[in-house]
Amino acid sequence: MHTRLLKLTTVLLLSAAALYGADETKKCSATARECEQQIRRMLSGRRYLGISVVELKPGLVIKSIVADGPASRADLKEGDRLIAINGRNMSEATAREFKQALADARETGTLWIIVQRRGNFRRVETRMEPYSKAQIDKIVQAHLTQSHSVIAGAGQP
Ligand SMILES: [Zn+2]
Repeated sequence: MHTRLLKLTTVLLLSAAALYGADETKKCSATARECEQQIRRMLSGRRYLGISVVELKPGLVIKSIVADGPASRADLKEGDRLIAINGRNMSEATAREFKQALADARETGTLWIIVQRRGNFRRVETRMEPYSKAQIDKIVQAHLTQSHSVIAGAGQP
């Protein structure tokens, strides 16, 4: 259980770092408080799919799936190659184009995804969901721990 939570936190943190356009290993120049407020503002009510991808140049493969996220319930798997999202060809897409496809679908959250798994094409319908408060708390905590050396529950003046 603990390991799974840790993995979830890592994936969510990576997605948060990606939203910043920053490398997750970089230290933050902002204060912990500023960061926390920015992350909460950025993620509050924001819909997510719950996958991260690797660029094959060309093309995209699913690298990881957030446990209990929309993608895991839709039976997407690590290693699936993305072929199309909502009718948009993804077979030679970059990570940036993938993020744009999700951003364009954010209003309704509905996604029709075609993936290729071991040579077979699979069509999947799913719906992006807003981050829960618990997920946002975990992303904030993971970021503060990693980039600001803030101990959980220590409290800031
Ligand atoms: Zn920070």
